[in-house]
Amino acid sequence: MLTVPVPCLSDNYAYLLIAPGTNECMVVDPSEGGPVLSALAQQKTRDGRALTVKAILCTHHHHDHVGGVEALVSELGVTSVYGYEADRGRIPAQTHFLTDGESFTFANMTITAMHIPGHTTGAVAYVVREGAADPIVFTGDTLFIGGCGRIFEGTPEMMHASLQKVAALPKETRIYCGHEYTESNYRFAATLEPTNLRLQKARERAATERRANNPTVPGTVEEELATNPFLRLDSAELRKALAIDAAETPAQMFAKVRAAKDVFRPSAPLSQPRVPT
Ligand code: ZN
Ligand code: FE
Repeated sequence: MLTVPVPCLSDNYAYLLIAPGTNECMVVDPSEGGPVLSALAQQKTRDGRALTVKAILCTHHHHDHVGGVEALVSELGVTSVYGYEADRGRIPAQTHFLTDGESFTFANMTITAMHIPGHTTGAVAYVVREGAADPIVFTGDTLFIGGCGRIFEGTPEMMHASLQKVAALPKETRIYCGHEYTESNYRFAATLEPTNLRLQKARERAATERRANNPTVPGTVEEELATNPFLRLDSAELRKALAIDAAETPAQMFAKVRAAKDVFRPSAPLSQPRVPT
């Protein structure tokens, strides 16, 4: 499987999930039609043949994840639009209403819906497996590289449980998330764990990628467990930084990290691509 990130809006990623050896793909979270159509056209020139979009996968109903669905349906005649069952009526042109754990196949891939409520009640991750290859997961606005989404419709308990579900995937699983928030996430993380060396390395790498105008996706479950503060509630340094008491439940600890992130404002500007001179 080949995953192509498509930058959309100011910091969103849609994705093309291409079945190797075929001209078929799926589109994940089309924020808007234009950039996705351009990415499809670019793939065509690279391979010499056009890609057919077989389906659209939506991680949740927010407009910056479904804003391009209707354009792709009308321009390309896409007939399958997947989302979680509870998003019925909220995802435009939805045709497939998935339940937790439900799987379907696409070319040689098996795609499994994982219900991960918290950011929204109908949030779903798509876990993609193909033979012996490392799995990949599209996490939408639930797990970001180095962070997690805001809790709009769920509770801290729900969001914490959902992040744990994603974190329980095999360590090699590659993570493709809905936004390029990595650098600001790492800045916040570094305020909680200033001596975490894995975090420092990941932060340097993210800055290098952003200066080159490259995406920081994919991450891996293994690296998130080592760097993402929302998955590091066992860190003594993090607990001290937030005055977390050992008697608190994991969901309460998680809520403290989320509350601190909600009010965190990075002081310096993030890395910008170098302008060629
Ligand atoms: Zn969202
Ligand atoms: Fe979003």
